[in-house]
Amino acid sequence: MHSSNPHLLVVGSVAIDWIITPHAEREESVGGSATFFAMAASYLSRVRLVGVVGGDFPQAAIGDLRDRGVDLTGLEVIADGKTFRWKGRYHENMNDRTTLATDLNVFESFTPKLPPEFRGSDFLFLANIQPKLQEQVFTQMQRPRLVGLDTMNLWISIANEELRSVLRHVDVLTLNDEEARQLSGEHNLVKAARGVQRLGPKNLVIKRGESGALLFDHEGHVFAAPALPLEEVIDPTGAGDSFAGGFMGYLARPGVEPTGASLRTAMIYGSVMASFCVEGFSYDRLRQLDTASIQHRFEAFSSLTNFARANLLD
Ligand code: AMP
Repeated sequence: MHSSNPHLLVVGSVAIDWIITPHAEREESVGGSATFFAMAASYLSRVRLVGVVGGDFPQAAIGDLRDRGVDLTGLEVIADGKTFRWKGRYHENMNDRTTLATDLNVFESFTPKLPPEFRGSDFLFLANIQPKLQEQVFTQMQRPRLVGLDTMNLWISIANEELRSVLRHVDVLTLNDEEARQLSGEHNLVKAARGVQRLGPKNLVIKRGESGALLFDHEGHVFAAPALPLEEVIDPTGAGDSFAGGFMGYLARPGVEPTGASLRTAMIYGSVMASFCVEGFSYDRLRQLDTASIQHRFEAFSSLTNFARANLLD
């Protein structure tokens, strides 16, 4: 019997970023894959977070996550350690970026230990972090109904075997287009998707920044979600994680079953949360939302792709 009000557990990085865009810079920007995921998902379902930070992590950010109702029992604070730090620079198009520095710091010696009540969580998202840590979290889980995973080029290059090992347990994988090509060794995106699906994940979401996202589902169907054309993108950091938060957050809602149709709806809630994320630095915009503004933007996505049927054969 499924829990009537499911829990969604996320493990991933909780970070302090240094963000440089062509228009602005923020040196101490709260980030991390689990942070963005949790913020976004918190509007849709009950979120639990597992991660680690150092004594330098701002107390206010912990307060922000708590205010959103995120259960932080699994967030370890190592008082004399340093938080994971990432520095990135966005190119003129705001889509491509270069990683300037990655300092694992407290993640280097982190061994996740799930609080006993977290082990029975119904939904699990293994956000971007070392694949070894993702696997360690998965093995402590009782029997999650759905497992999602995100990763990045760094881990595909330096931890390929560990990544392939954890991928065997994954129901939904999210990657960007370059990562899908890198992991599969195929340039064509459709062939790349099929290659990645053969590694384990029955469903694959390929994120393409301002070009939206593609879902290759377990029934062999392909679905395309657009990205909302926005006048101003302030900081794209965390868009992928916010997408995953909206996507998984919707699937973890009471009464939603992971059918092909609800995976498509989840793609739109993912796109909605990503579109909010990029409207501010860090999670500045994401933390100010309410259900009405989320639903309003969901409708905007719907009208973006709503067109009258026509038939030249009639
Ligand atoms: P996204 O823009 O959705 O790809 O995610 C950006 C976030 O990922 C930033 O806030 C970073 O702190 C985090 N991040 C960057 N590199 C890594 C890494 N190697 N492992 C875990 N998290 C990372």
